[in-house]
Amino acid sequence: MDHLAIIGAGSVGTAIAFAALNGGVARRLSLHDLNGAKAKAEVLDLRHGLQFVRPTTIEGGDDVAVCAGADVVIITAGAKQRPGETRLDLAARNAGLFRSLLPPLMAVAPDAKILVVTNPVDVLTQLTVDVTGRHDGTVLGSGTVLDSSRLRHLLALRYCIAERHIHASVVGEHGDSETVLWSSATIGGSPLAEVETHDGQLLDAVARAEILDQVRNAAYEIIAGKGATSWGIAMATAQILEALDQTAQAAVLPVTAPLDPGLGLGELCISLPRLVDATGAGRILPLSATDAEREALTASAGAVRDIIDNIR
Ligand code: NAD
Repeated sequence: MDHLAIIGAGSVGTAIAFAALNGGVARRLSLHDLNGAKAKAEVLDLRHGLQFVRPTTIEGGDDVAVCAGADVVIITAGAKQRPGETRLDLAARNAGLFRSLLPPLMAVAPDAKILVVTNPVDVLTQLTVDVTGRHDGTVLGSGTVLDSSRLRHLLALRYCIAERHIHASVVGEHGDSETVLWSSATIGGSPLAEVETHDGQLLDAVARAEILDQVRNAAYEIIAGKGATSWGIAMATAQILEALDQTAQAAVLPVTAPLDPGLGLGELCISLPRLVDATGAGRILPLSATDAEREALTASAGAVRDIIDNIR
């Protein structure tokens, strides 16, 4: 793409900038942060690596005008989880920020696809859809792309099989109510339920619950240790960015974006595996789920809906 803009030059925004630069995603990269000195310092630091990546123009500052004409704007600005705080507790704090940030952003970058990363990502993606009036997939959020990568990593350890050969998705809220579509998970094309782990076991209900618990709590563990999560979300976001640049072939990623009303989950943003390409978040793939999985997904949609109703 020509121009990628990132709002928020904190742990997540700068890690995304680093991943995007190394991936050669954009010819121009802009960083905007209310803290202009921080944005400018990060720009300088990144520029000093330009010898080692594809030619890129990097700029930044405290004026949202640096995002002018962007093809994609990633929003990472906002408060982050305090130790022990849930993502949904963050909602009210960050909703106010989005309401003031979006109108000037829309004025300078009216055609940009907006990729929300700030938490709670489902709620803030829905708020961005509401404020911009865009229900066409050009507003989307990173959703459970990171959570699904965490899941695949934990499964990779159990099976001693590389993550890329494991197809399994975390769906629903990016947060405490998220769930796994175990029944449609495959390894190298075989149903996961029929493949033995490296110590010769089938993954029983206890092991599945343990893995889901680890996925749900991964962020808390990292925040307790280093104050923020950054590298995993940056690599997940770089993958979404790559998809947003593709016109010929879509990727399948569990991003959060407006749901198809036909799914019966309500009109809100949560994650399900769906097509992502240069047009934004597209068609949701047919949902293959057991009754219990569908129930968990419905409960997760309800949890997100409650928070959306609270901040509207
Ligand atoms: P951080 O505090 O390091 O950075 C946030 C930055 O936003 C700060 O530099 C701050 O100055 C800036 N900012 C605040 N208000 C602004 C505004 N109105 N305009 C421009 N800049 C503004 O936080 P972080 O660790 O980078 O986390 C950022 C967000 O990303 C948090 O909400 C966090 O929960 C979220 N996050 C999401 C995921 C995910 O999977 N979706 C993963 C990790 C973190």
